[in-house]
Amino acid sequence: GHLPAPEQVRALVDEAHTRFGPCAEGRNADYIPALAAVPSHLFGICLAGTSGQMYAVGDTDHAFTIQSISKPFVFALICQSIGEDAARRKLGVNSTGLPFNSVIAVERSTGGVTNPMVNAGAIATSSLAPGAGAEDKWRFIRDGLSRFAGRALEIDAAVYASEMSANQRNAGIAKLLSAYDSIYFDPLEATDIYTRQCSLRVTARDLAVMAATLANGGVNPLTRESVIDPIHCQHVLAVMVTAGLYENSGDWLYDTGLPGKSGVSGGMIVVAPGKGGLATFAPPLDAAGNSVKGQLTARFLSERLGLNLFASR
Ligand code: GLN
Repeated sequence: GHLPAPEQVRALVDEAHTRFGPCAEGRNADYIPALAAVPSHLFGICLAGTSGQMYAVGDTDHAFTIQSISKPFVFALICQSIGEDAARRKLGVNSTGLPFNSVIAVERSTGGVTNPMVNAGAIATSSLAPGAGAEDKWRFIRDGLSRFAGRALEIDAAVYASEMSANQRNAGIAKLLSAYDSIYFDPLEATDIYTRQCSLRVTARDLAVMAATLANGGVNPLTRESVIDPIHCQHVLAVMVTAGLYENSGDWLYDTGLPGKSGVSGGMIVVAPGKGGLATFAPPLDAAGNSVKGQLTARFLSERLGLNLFASR
């Protein structure tokens, strides 16, 4: 399958921006103090096709921190590094049905294994990065995420500092994982690496390219670099389907029929396998921590562009 004709895609992307721009629902995340200060009205939509077509409207060049949208990409890099079977065994692939920062999810799990889309599993995922020490591991993650984006990504030092000053819950989760032997590096150093990865600056345009790389068997549609093998894309997308929007992943799938991933800074990605990647940026979130305008846009464009994976056509 392909995306509809370019002029049709262009018109629908523009229509989504006009339609959902005025929506005033939701609130910026504020448990990371720096995120509360981001202007709430910002709204960008970018769609990247697997052959490199780009459709952008609104604030698609505004940089924000990637937050949880880093999770599927780091999981992809770890699958590539240690193999998908080892990754599944060490990290898990079932949804928790609980909020992204849940400690209860770890206690209810078997052996402290959750999934790579929630904080517990994501910190464990980052702990598996190859390298002798924290700096090597960090470099592996930063360079890998940069290859997905097709450019060198940098940390937002202010957001990183802000999150580190309010990171007691993630540090606690990581320590709890070590009691279960389900984290694979020093828990506090792994939490630091995870927090750095969440603080990388991206734009909606970057995220669209990253999502399109997952839609394209791991080949970045702009740089043509093969970042991960095709087999890993399908596993990453499966975990995004079960857990990408945390406890609302069922509602999300019911609405869009597509793998997606959200982050607390207001970004969101949607992957249409073989067709392209959609990214949105709009900071106000719903109660589960998912961008309100992002979800409206994804639902609208999935329907109008015919992207739902379960549609019979
Ligand atoms: N860095 C954030 C945290 O760990 C990411 C959470 C998110 O985007 N949902 O709390």
